Amino acid sequence: MSKIDHTRGSDALAFLVDQHLPPVPENYTLAYIALTDPESPIGQMVKAFTADGFRLRQNDADEIIRLHLSGAVRARARPDRAQQDALRHQAIKLGEAASSAAAATGAFARELSAEAGSIGAEEARTVQIVARMIEQSRSTEIDLNATASEVAALRQELETARDDAQRDQLTGLGNRRAIERHLQRLANKGSTRLVGLCDIDFFKSVNDRYGHGVGDRVLKQVASSLANACAPHFVGRWGGEEFLVVMEGGDTAAGVALLDKARADLAKREFKLRENDEPMGQITFSGGVAIATGDHADSIAAIHRADAALYRAKAEGRNRIRSA
Ligand code: GH3
Ligand code: MG
Ligand code: MG
Repeated sequence: MSKIDHTRGSDALAFLVDQHLPPVPENYTLAYIALTDPESPIGQMVKAFTADGFRLRQNDADEIIRLHLSGAVRARARPDRAQQDALRHQAIKLGEAASSAAAATGAFARELSAEAGSIGAEEARTVQIVARMIEQSRSTEIDLNATASEVAALRQELETARDDAQRDQLTGLGNRRAIERHLQRLANKGSTRLVGLCDIDFFKSVNDRYGHGVGDRVLKQVASSLANACAPHFVGRWGGEEFLVVMEGGDTAAGVALLDKARADLAKREFKLRENDEPMGQITFSGGVAIATGDHADSIAAIHRADAALYRAKAEGRNRIRSA
């Protein structure tokens, strides 16, 4: 073989397109040898792999290349100077055809037929092969985009589910799990944590007097009042009619001041029955504040200390904040 056979060259490219193999030099050489010399070991192996309409996978191609594309065969496959030039020119032509095709997607068909007229049948065939390659890579890109948006949708679902698992359905605040995670994060950071446990005063009597539906609405309003008054600090529903405020840094006095402001905000609100505007009287809460400086276990211990302070606030008349 003293001269590169252009017809075989584009056949080799067409073969790679059919097999969905990338037109990298090793694959091209493999295809070229398989087509020009079907009885060679490479030709025979390719024939065996592609019998019965099977596609030559990259793994198989790699294996054939590893076994046979070395020594004598590689030497034979390696073209001489003139062949190298011819190959290089063909590669340059391919690159030009590919970039002009990619640059003008809309007018691509027109461009193709124009080129086919001007550059001769064999080159036109090469251009067509490149067009198929581009089409294949474009559909791969579409598949990839579809997969990417599926992944994004799944991630969104997962985040929603994760969020639901940490959100209290009634008030929309973080639930006990969210509180624990938040405290754990602060402990991991080594931050000082202030915890404020708040418990609505005489809440049972709200339920008893107006029913649980009204009780639920009051709970929601207390939750939003508390969250607003304490923002940007973390407020979660600890359970029942109890809420936990978490502050990062600061001292116990700052925690007491924050909770007392929230307490006063709620106490001055007028609660009325939705049905008939009947005043429901004052809704208040009592609170206990404690500080944690150690590991996460110390946060849990601080909540117990805050609970003890809350008990004192209740005992001393409710609607007040005490600290441990
Ligand atoms: P205290 O001032 O001592 O805290 O009195 P209290 O009545 O608030 O205390 P108690 O613990 O006896 O009652 C709390 C009530 O909160 C009992 C329970 O029925 C009510 N409760 C807890 N969770 C909910 C809820 O999600 N919705 C409603 N409507 N009521 C709730
Ligand atoms: Mg309670
Ligand atoms: Mg209560």
